[in-house]
Amino acid sequence: MIFKEEKKLYIETLGCAMNARDSEHIIAELGDKENYVLTDTMQEADLILINTCSVREKPVSKLFSEIGKYNKRKKEGAKIGVCGCTASHLGEEIFRRAPYVSFVIGARNVSKIGAAVNTERFISVDTDYDESTYAFGEFRHSLYKAYVNISIGCDKKCTYCIVPQTRGDEISIPLDLIVNEARKAAKSGAKEIFLLGQNVNNYGKRFSNKSEAEVDFSDLLNKISEIEEVERIRFTSPHPLHMDDKFLQTFATNPKVCKSMHMPLQSGSTHILEQMKRGYTKEWFLNRALKLRAMIPDVSISTDVIVAFPGESEEDFEETLDVMRQVKFEQVFAFKYSPRPLTKAAEFTNQIDPEIGSARLERLQVMQDDILDEISQSKMGKIYPVYIEELRNNGFLAGRSDNNALVQIKGDESLLGQTLNVEITNPKRLALYGEIVL
Ligand code: SF4
Repeated sequence: MIFKEEKKLYIETLGCAMNARDSEHIIAELGDKENYVLTDTMQEADLILINTCSVREKPVSKLFSEIGKYNKRKKEGAKIGVCGCTASHLGEEIFRRAPYVSFVIGARNVSKIGAAVNTERFISVDTDYDESTYAFGEFRHSLYKAYVNISIGCDKKCTYCIVPQTRGDEISIPLDLIVNEARKAAKSGAKEIFLLGQNVNNYGKRFSNKSEAEVDFSDLLNKISEIEEVERIRFTSPHPLHMDDKFLQTFATNPKVCKSMHMPLQSGSTHILEQMKRGYTKEWFLNRALKLRAMIPDVSISTDVIVAFPGESEEDFEETLDVMRQVKFEQVFAFKYSPRPLTKAAEFTNQIDPEIGSARLERLQVMQDDILDEISQSKMGKIYPVYIEELRNNGFLAGRSDNNALVQIKGDESLLGQTLNVEITNPKRLALYGEIVL
């Protein structure tokens, strides 16, 4: 074995849970094969990596200002690399705009990080590259929760979204690989398994090996729940289009599957949903969400909303508010539409005045705050089993109830990793405060 001198890695991750997991893969690869250890201090790093996101406009502009700062303050000889979705879509342009960058690897090329650090001006942004069976090393930021990828890429063509251009077509990871990874993580203490993919409930549609046995997302959930050490299973993101009865039934009846569902609405107007190419109608979305509420009274439902999509009229926007009133989401991630390069919607000629967009976003947020006040007050006096995962700077321990409410209690580190019954004594909009009960 060739001895490699220990080097330091500083990594900044922007964007979603998929990016966070990609960063864990990068850290594992560089640790196992190149002897890198993590540092929190950028100035002492031999390698500075920024793992980017391009879903919204801000992280892209942040990339160049961030790496410019790193370049001025880094130690002599340190390398800077750019990975992730922005790397995929900007490619060579990153070298042109920031010539001090040593390598660029796309979101679907993470397994090439070893070659990247050893090759000058390395670039690999191929969106056809198949990493679905690549055996990444082990690294996890949390002892208590393990993120596990179940697919890569996305086959949908939502007109506002850049992901298919940066992560390529959808390929499912073989069931056995996922189950083994979940088992390994659970045996090392992670009682919660968090499954990741762009459209998790489309799992099994395509494997790179065509002889892979037929299996769907419900089968995968049931298989993982057979692992004794796994207590909780979460996932993101499911697509409303694929929420068939079998999936809802498995979700409702499997006791290890946490009762919180992310249902990205995007718009409540069927007309706008068509323009977005989302593949479902307002009626279908409402039918699925209200069926979930009927099947599981304590379920929590979160969503994503884009306001002021091109062509969105006042009536279309009202349809979105109507869905919000009917479903009463526990969490809403709402954004004003921003055109992304390489997407169809960026070319639409009926863009909405940004001021109208800001006003709609504000109206939506005011309405959601009222809904949240009502929801949080209804939790007063309830008792939830809470999986304690974190000691916060405010001195509180934090964890999640099965239905994903953030719960905070007084306590010390010895309670980390335990599931405790907590009575809610002080419900707030963003967190529920409570006390341990026996
Ligand atoms: S489903 Fe649509 S929004 Fe989600 S990643 Fe795919 S293209 Fe983007």
